[in-house]
Amino acid sequence: MLKVGHVVVRPGRKAGMDPVEIPIPEELETVPGIPMVSKDIDFYSREYPLLRQQVEHGADTEWSPSVGTAAMKAYHEQHNAVMAEFYPAMNRTGDLEPTGTPSGEDVTQLIRDRAVEMGFLDIGFTNHDLRFVYQDRKDFVKYPNAICIALEQDFAETQTAPSMAAEHGHYGTYETQAPMGLRMVEYILSLGYHAQLHGPSNHSAATIPMFVAAGLGQLGANGQLLTPHAGARCRLQIITTDAPVTMDEPIDYGLHAFCQVCQVCVNRCPGRALMREKIWWRGVEKNKLIYKRCRPVMVRYEGCAICMKVCPINKYGAKAVMEHYVETGQVLGKGTHDLEGYTLHDESTGKYTTGYFGPGELPTFDASLFKIPSGTRENAALDELMNYIETKKDGGKSEEDDKVLFNFRDRLRFILHGEVSDSTMF
Ligand code: SF4
Ligand code: SF4
Repeated sequence: MLKVGHVVVRPGRKAGMDPVEIPIPEELETVPGIPMVSKDIDFYSREYPLLRQQVEHGADTEWSPSVGTAAMKAYHEQHNAVMAEFYPAMNRTGDLEPTGTPSGEDVTQLIRDRAVEMGFLDIGFTNHDLRFVYQDRKDFVKYPNAICIALEQDFAETQTAPSMAAEHGHYGTYETQAPMGLRMVEYILSLGYHAQLHGPSNHSAATIPMFVAAGLGQLGANGQLLTPHAGARCRLQIITTDAPVTMDEPIDYGLHAFCQVCQVCVNRCPGRALMREKIWWRGVEKNKLIYKRCRPVMVRYEGCAICMKVCPINKYGAKAVMEHYVETGQVLGKGTHDLEGYTLHDESTGKYTTGYFGPGELPTFDASLFKIPSGTRENAALDELMNYIETKKDGGKSEEDDKVLFNFRDRLRFILHGEVSDSTMF
């Protein structure tokens, strides 16, 4: 039996449920939230502002649908059609005027109660930290307070990952939470305050640091927010507001240290995209996900998400996992087929591996799987032009050169003057 260092008390996972008490073993205690060096975060946000995935990795975002499975491509169209109805309304929320008269009193509890009543998994309040706002959203974001709201993704569907069922769970949650977020905005407007909705998908900032600051979880070795009730199996939104609210504090759930003991996601990742050791990255100590090893697997194998599926916090919840660790010093479920097993289904080319992989077994891929277009859309356009210049023999037809150059010009025009997608699908 390990010594308990402190006990975290959190609201129950649904309205009317009792609070849960999570014992945190002394040996897993680190700091509330995440270890960070604030001046380094300042520096990186100033000199190297964060970019949205659709910008920083625009090249592979454009390319991804071409290699997804047929079912994924069809769902891509369907999901984008559903979300196209919500994005304009979401993007306009910052300009809406309040519909009610402000009382001037703290409205934290009113907002919290409404979120729970609507079915959100958890809610927390913190300062909207401008250091985490994406470069192309800096002039867009309004209001200083961040309301962080999480909606749970279906458990049974997620357990089938990677699969289309899990993707329906993932993007289906977005389709549910977009209108829920809009209703939360309406409610805050009715209280007499401004409210701007960010997410799902069309986020204005990196959300996890603010969810951690609001005490809603800690960053896992899988690069995702681990919430006490559902691990990473939830989808995030932020509402920025000028409503008077009381800020929450970050919490030490023991997860920062627990991940170093657990390592299940690191061991099970088919792309070997997760790092065993933590590093300091942009002022934060974390296990840094290696994007270029994750993305090709995600894209080809229907969203992958194995690192979410195999996480014991997702499967059993932090209370059961920590109680088990206190009693035994072991990671609940580790080494079992039930927790760690997964099946890779057919991908679009039929070239790469499929089948069931139990604990200790990992698929292998040839290097071609990891060759994907890298960088921004501008990078991809230039790469294509350079490839033409490098491979074309001198003395060919000049019309062909013209065609390639005009295509390059038109593509750059589209990139410079077109919209960046709100969607992170593919
Ligand atoms: S999504 Fe798949 S490939 Fe990417 S980190 Fe998770 S387990 Fe690895
Ligand atoms: S599987 Fe284990 S190591 Fe990975 S995020 Fe979950 S708790 Fe952390």
